[in-house]
Amino acid sequence: MEYLPRETDVLIVGGGPAGLATALAARQQGLRAVVVDSAAPPIDKACGEGLMPDSLEVLQQLGVTLDPSKYVPFQGIRFIGEISRVEAVFPFGTGAGVRRVTLHETLVEHAAEAGVHMAWQQRVSNVRDSYAYVNDHPVSFRWIVGADGGNSIMRRWAALDAGEKVSPRFGFRRH
Ligand SMILES: Cc1cc2nc3c(=O)[nH]c(=O)nc-3n(C[C@H](O)[C@H](O)[C@H](O)COP(=O)(O)OP(=O)(O)OC[C@H]3O[C@@H](n4cnc5c(N)ncnc54)[C@H](O)[C@@H]3O)c2cc1C
Repeated sequence: MEYLPRETDVLIVGGGPAGLATALAARQQGLRAVVVDSAAPPIDKACGEGLMPDSLEVLQQLGVTLDPSKYVPFQGIRFIGEISRVEAVFPFGTGAGVRRVTLHETLVEHAAEAGVHMAWQQRVSNVRDSYAYVNDHPVSFRWIVGADGGNSIMRRWAALDAGEKVSPRFGFRRH
């Protein structure tokens, strides 16, 4: 198993965009950050692959720059249905169309440069007191962050899913 520190300030469960952004923010505050994800980078998933203007602003604050050759700017959004369509331009700024794997690679690179410890293909299987069990290996933390996506087990462990409404949706992506 890849080396894992025995303790950290912030343990982040999930190394998607939210987890990596949180890790970068923690490092900006001088905190030690460990990200654990059961998948291996670059992580892909069905996505519209559009970063909104405010996302770009936050990325800039986190010190993340996107290579201009790897994204396409866009001014607004259009939803197209069978019988109608609706569209609007952003009131400020531009968005960026960027492949999800490219965004993930960029975030991973910046996280590595910032000193984030990333443990890929390892699962958080339990959290007890101030210990998270990563493939049964205990890691002590001061703060734990659940960034483990839509089916978050962290949300269940924290008993925050009581009001969850199940509303199935289908997403398709075409390039
Ligand atoms: C069809 C579709 C289109 C979308 N289009 C857009 C768009 O155009 N623009 C936009 O901004 N957003 C879009 N979104 C939303 C966006 O994809 C999500 O908001 C985003 O992925 C959330 O990121 P995240 O890091 O929270 O979760 P995720 O990207 O889901 O990452 C969670 C990670 O946690 C890991 N994990 C889970 N459990 C564990 C565990 N126990 N131990 C270790 N690791 C674990 C998983 O492997 C995963 O990598 C779209 C969503 C869908 C479904």
